[in-house]
Amino acid sequence: MPIARVALPVAAAGPFDYWYPEGLALGDGSLVRVPLGPRRLTGVVVAIADDSAVAREKLHAVADVVTGPRLPVDVVDLVRFIASYYHESIGLACALAVPPLTRARRQPRGGDGADPPPDVAVARRALNWEQAAAVAAIRAAAGRFAAFLLRGVTGSGKTEVYLAAADTVLAGGGQVLILVPEINLTPQLVARVRAARPEATVAVLHSGLAAGERRAAWLAAADGRAAIVLGTRLAVFTPLPALGLIVVDEEHDASYKQQDGVRYHARDAAIWRAHRRSIPIVLGTATPSLETWLAASEGRYHRLDLGERADPRASLPRIRLVSQSGARAGEGIGPELRAALAARLGRGEQSLVFVNRRGFAPSLVCAACKWDAQCPHCTARLTTHRAPPALRCHHCGHAEPLPRACPACGNVDLVPLGFGTQRLERTLAEAFPTARIARVDRDSTRAKGAFAAVRADVEARSLDILVGTQMLAKGHDFPRLTLVGVLGADNALYSADFRATERLAALLIQVAGRAGRAGLAGEVIVQTDFPEHPAYGALLAQDYASFADALLVERRVAQLPPIVHAALLGVEAHRRGDVDAFLADAHAAATRLATGDVDVFTPVPALLARRAGFERSQLVVQSGHRPALQRFLAQWVTALAALPGRRVRWTLDVDPTSFG
Ligand code: ADP
Ligand code: ZN
Ligand code: ZN
Repeated sequence: MPIARVALPVAAAGPFDYWYPEGLALGDGSLVRVPLGPRRLTGVVVAIADDSAVAREKLHAVADVVTGPRLPVDVVDLVRFIASYYHESIGLACALAVPPLTRARRQPRGGDGADPPPDVAVARRALNWEQAAAVAAIRAAAGRFAAFLLRGVTGSGKTEVYLAAADTVLAGGGQVLILVPEINLTPQLVARVRAARPEATVAVLHSGLAAGERRAAWLAAADGRAAIVLGTRLAVFTPLPALGLIVVDEEHDASYKQQDGVRYHARDAAIWRAHRRSIPIVLGTATPSLETWLAASEGRYHRLDLGERADPRASLPRIRLVSQSGARAGEGIGPELRAALAARLGRGEQSLVFVNRRGFAPSLVCAACKWDAQCPHCTARLTTHRAPPALRCHHCGHAEPLPRACPACGNVDLVPLGFGTQRLERTLAEAFPTARIARVDRDSTRAKGAFAAVRADVEARSLDILVGTQMLAKGHDFPRLTLVGVLGADNALYSADFRATERLAALLIQVAGRAGRAGLAGEVIVQTDFPEHPAYGALLAQDYASFADALLVERRVAQLPPIVHAALLGVEAHRRGDVDAFLADAHAAATRLATGDVDVFTPVPALLARRAGFERSQLVVQSGHRPALQRFLAQWVTALAALPGRRVRWTLDVDPTSFG
């Protein structure tokens, strides 16, 4: 009697055995519905066997086979790799690859459900020599594994390189997978890809799509109809029978790492898949992650450089650092930025004011007794919001009305401290009453299509000033935008996260890269009280490479990733004592299991020591030798699963993007 081993979306190790009748054509990657206890679940067949360790009369039968394509063997292999590398159940890993199983509705235009494409100039231009050299190198790697770091300054025309490299693959009947970090970035890139390659079928995959739309795009990819598949993190699991090239745009972006459930990194999964399929992969960015930078400097990845902006009229923006404390009197906007904004308004050019805080002000304090508004569920301050008015916690979602008087001393003089997007929006509206201003942050773009509407307004020149968070920093190409103002970036310098300065420098370079991308000269004004900090130095010199080299030296000295490989055990419970007890046991197990090349650190409270009512602590383990760490983790996870600790939740994060 044939047995199907089925991976099911549950945390238990699995896979689970089921029998099925002889005639049923099941194989690896088949999608089936099976009973598990009282439930009926959809799972993936990961092996066929003739025998099971489960007694015959206890075995259940496969209930149903899902019609449509099965997961191809390279996707099943990828899922197996993810399960083993991140020490998750094969079932939870498989769930990442299973398409939404609703009935597919017919979709217009390749069925992607993306916003209608904005008008994009289609001119197929000649590549400049740096672009041409990059394309030639990628083409020469066709049919074998090679990883390329395409390092191009902002506006250097990386997209044209992706497209030209894709052409060769498409011409040979192959498929191209392009990963992007943000849903918000997909419509613009989709429009560019469609405009540039109108003959190619483009399928778009991201989590913002309705299930039917996603399934339609998935099917188009799986049966080879879609020549180009463009998507976010999850798209790395898409079946692509003729896959010939993978592109990871903005490879440094933190959103490629899933922060809950199976904590995989989509860039690393993409590299694994390219290797498995023996195809080239291109990692594009202006500010490489230190992981990628290290790999390139060791020769594991090939470096391709685009040193200049592609539009011959464009040059890199002029950058000025000015005092932040001087800006406080001006409600956040200092005299230099104010004058520069006025000049743009006079010339009919656009400006962007960037601050990485949403809400009105990051705190509310009493002028008399120094009381400040704290979240009752987290070790964090509450953010003052004005539209609508409330105190909100950005960690757990807690909200309460703005107090009229200090709860500690009764004083009515409560002061919102610091600047968020709402406050700057108000400052700007007061300073420039005739300017057309839009705010872009998670609050203002919650409604579907809100972000696309702002982008359309920028393109139609019906907006003068954008004020917003890092949503605005990424990838956008606005030709009339000539001024970028940056506020509050110094906050990152106080962070205890070892990656804070790396992130800050990357963010500054990205956001500065929005200015002056076409014929109009760009200017960037950064308000800071620490102008001598290396992150600002990297921006001033527009030299991320030297900065990244310096950071790698620091990481080597401090023995931090990516020089070493780390994993972080995060533990939380309602009671601190339960957390500490579990971590003490976990630590004891780790020291018992660790061999010489694995370091086990002391458990410490998380940077956010309490969140949403849960006490949180963590334990870091690391090793200079990845296989040694992996062997250790496999044993440790087994030991952790056997620990008493029913009142705690724990997660293991392999290659965590922060130690917070
Ligand atoms: P990046 O992704 O590197 O930031 P883009 O691909 O968005 O850069 O290109 C920046 C701008 O330069 C775009 O407006 C693009 O159309 C233009 N561009 C790209 N390549 C060329 C080229 N070879 N000649 C002229 N303009 C180009
Ligand atoms: Zn008070
Ligand atoms: Zn909270």
